[in-house]
Amino acid sequence: MESNRVWIRDVAPRDGFQIEPQFVPLDVKVETINALAKAGVPSIEATSFVHPKAVPQMADAAEVMTRIERYPGTTYAVLVPNLVGAKRALECNPDQINLVVSASESHNRANLNRETFETLDGFRDIASLIRGSGVDLHGGIATSFGCPFEGSVPVERVLRVVERYLELGVTAVGLADTTGMANPRQVQEIVEAVQKRWPDLEVHLHFHNTRGMGLANVFAGYLSGIRHFDASLGGIGGCPFAPGATGNICTEDTVHMLHEMGIETQINLDALISAAKRLEKQLGHSLPGQVMKAGKTSDLHPLPSAMQYEKTE
Ligand code: ZN
Repeated sequence: MESNRVWIRDVAPRDGFQIEPQFVPLDVKVETINALAKAGVPSIEATSFVHPKAVPQMADAAEVMTRIERYPGTTYAVLVPNLVGAKRALECNPDQINLVVSASESHNRANLNRETFETLDGFRDIASLIRGSGVDLHGGIATSFGCPFEGSVPVERVLRVVERYLELGVTAVGLADTTGMANPRQVQEIVEAVQKRWPDLEVHLHFHNTRGMGLANVFAGYLSGIRHFDASLGGIGGCPFAPGATGNICTEDTVHMLHEMGIETQINLDALISAAKRLEKQLGHSLPGQVMKAGKTSDLHPLPSAMQYEKTE
C-alpha cells in the first residue's frame, strides 16, 4: 500500500530568495519558478505575501504570480502571514496557501512578535476566508525540532499546534527544522508521535542543512513513511530571524539521493542541475548544492593515463 513516490515542494523562490542580500530581479524569480515547473517539480512555494517592509525581497509577490507560466499539474503555493496577505494572495489565484507559526514561544516572538497560540487564533479569519475558495490550506510549524533561543521543544507542544491547525481545517501539516537542529532519530520520534495520533494526516517535512544532517533527516522521514519534503534549488535559503541558519536542503541533491535509491520523484534531475547552475550565475555567488559541483554518481570520468597516475602518487 505504501508508495515509494516522493513529492518535492521547492521553496527556493520564497525561503531561498528572501534571505538573498541583493534584491533578486523579478525576471530571475519568474525564470527560476518556470524552470522548476518545467523540470517536473510537482509543487513550488512561489512567493510570500508578507508586508514589503518586513521582507523587501517579496515586495513583488503579486507580479511574480502574474508573470509565471502556470504549468498544468504543478501546485503553486504561497506563504501568507496574516489576513491582509491572504486577501492579496487570493487575488493571484494560488493553488495552495501556507501558514507558518513557531512551536517555540521565543522564536515566534522574534519572528511574528506574538505568542504561538495568539498567532494560531489570528489564523481563524484567514481560514474562514479561504474556506470554499478551492485553495488548499497548509499549516507549517517552525522550530518543530528545536529552537535557537530555547533549545529543545517538547513534542507535546508540536502536537498541540498540529491539533489547532486541524481545527482550522488545514489539509496538511509541515514540520519545519528552521535552524537545522533536527537529527534523524528525533525525526522518526516526532513523525511517529504525529502519526500515532493522526494516522491519515499528510505530513510534510522541511529541513535546513545548517549542521549537515539534512539528507539523513530526509531518509529518516522517508523510512517513517513521509512522502512530502520541502527542498530548495541550489540549497539556497536560511531564516532571517535565526542566527546562523543557512541553507535549506538542496533540491537536486535530495532528488539525486532519492533516484540513486530507486525512489521516484517524477523530476528531471539534469534539468534541475542546469537550473541551479544558471541561478548561481544570476545570484553572483556560489550555492551550497553539491551535485551541481560534483556531478551525478552516474557521471563517469575518463580514466587517468598511467603517466599521470604515477606523477600524483
Ligand atoms: Zn525554512
